[in-house]
Amino acid sequence: MPNDEYAEVRRLAAQVARDVYGPVAEEMDVNRTPVSREQRMQLGELGFLGIAHPEEYGGSGAPLAQALVVVEEFAKVCRPAAFQIFEANTGPAQVVNHLGTEEQKRRWLPAIISGERTMAVGISEPDAGSAATDMRTTAKVTNGTVVVNGNKRWISNGGEADQYVVYCRLSDAPGAKGIGAVVVDKGAPGFSFGASERLMGFRGIPSADLYFDNVEVPESNIIVPAGGFGRLFGVFSIERMGNTTMSLAIGQAALDRTLKYVEEREQFGKPLIEFQSIQVMVADMVLQVEAARLLRDQAAASVDARGMPDALKVSLAKCTANEMAKRVTDLAMQIHGGNGYTEEYGIERLHRDAHGWAIAGGTPTMQRIRIVSEVLGRKFDQRR
Ligand SMILES: Cc1cc2nc3c(=O)[nH]c(=O)nc-3n(C[C@H](O)[C@H](O)[C@H](O)COP(=O)(O)OP(=O)(O)OC[C@H]3O[C@@H](n4cnc5c(N)ncnc54)[C@H](O)[C@@H]3O)c2cc1C
Repeated sequence: MPNDEYAEVRRLAAQVARDVYGPVAEEMDVNRTPVSREQRMQLGELGFLGIAHPEEYGGSGAPLAQALVVVEEFAKVCRPAAFQIFEANTGPAQVVNHLGTEEQKRRWLPAIISGERTMAVGISEPDAGSAATDMRTTAKVTNGTVVVNGNKRWISNGGEADQYVVYCRLSDAPGAKGIGAVVVDKGAPGFSFGASERLMGFRGIPSADLYFDNVEVPESNIIVPAGGFGRLFGVFSIERMGNTTMSLAIGQAALDRTLKYVEEREQFGKPLIEFQSIQVMVADMVLQVEAARLLRDQAAASVDARGMPDALKVSLAKCTANEMAKRVTDLAMQIHGGNGYTEEYGIERLHRDAHGWAIAGGTPTMQRIRIVSEVLGRKFDQRR
């Protein structure tokens, strides 16, 4: 962040991440172990889960940029821990914060901010990924009860989270017009989960399908009625800022480890950094990380009085950071030689995670489509 106005919180976050999660991050990845409830409660006690939430619900009322600093420091060390901070500050809880009623905010936010409960988001479906508005999950309202039917795919923290913000069709209107969102609690009769996915990365962040078979929830769980897709995706820009920061941290961590390695590792009688081609590769890493950081900071600085970042700046930052993390971790692997290919050095873990963050939250291709659309001020119909 410019002038690092969040230096103190950055220092505290880095220290906790290093001391608590540094020793267990590799094991969490190898065994796909999620953050425990106790660990999450500790993150809540430290105030890390409510940074970007209002004080009246237990948060700190700080700017989104401060939450991003904390996500970044944790993500450099342990993505499953960073994910908890990401999810609470930039994920579905922000849908509640920005679009929920006063009663819904009081009902749901304090438990998320304290770490007692977690919330996941269900948008994607087997036949509706990039084409999110093709979703088929329905929520029909009769006599004060909402009946949810359908299937969500690739849901991070699926099966683990206590509550789900489920994007669904709340009216028969086609495309985006019929879409809204409803909150469904884990344990509701008819709500079940698929097997935990064995993802390439994201290990320690469970992923599962959600199945809704005539799941009944009270009408007061409708968070956004039909016609609110634009508002939902407006708030999703905040999640994309969290995603961008995850990628930035992955690139930065790969760079930090590489800077150390090239000084220590010797070949042909001298440290790797003495070879000009290695210097060029390292310079490319620095260049790409810094470019992504500037765009992330620019997007974070664009947050308006409503707490919403500028959509164009967010897509520029996400696209750049996602692709940077894939390239920079690849360069780090190359520079680390055989060591980079082992679990011990953590580079292959960074590379695997980089790919996951570049798909989640909308691929770089979809960000490019958004960029052109914003720059030209017109929408492109992907069906033609
Ligand atoms: C690690 C991970 C975590 C995730 N977490 C969640 C979550 O918590 N909640 C949730 O709802 N979803 C989640 N997702 C799903 C994610 O949002 C989707 O995977 C993503 O939007 C892409 O959809 P898809 O996988 O169906 O790919 P597809 O949409 O089938 O796309 C396949 C390829 O085609 C390209 N493509 C698609 N349409 C176009 C077009 N019009 N023009 C050019 N190229 C195009 C894409 O860019 C991509 O390269 C997660 C995914 C991953 C991998």
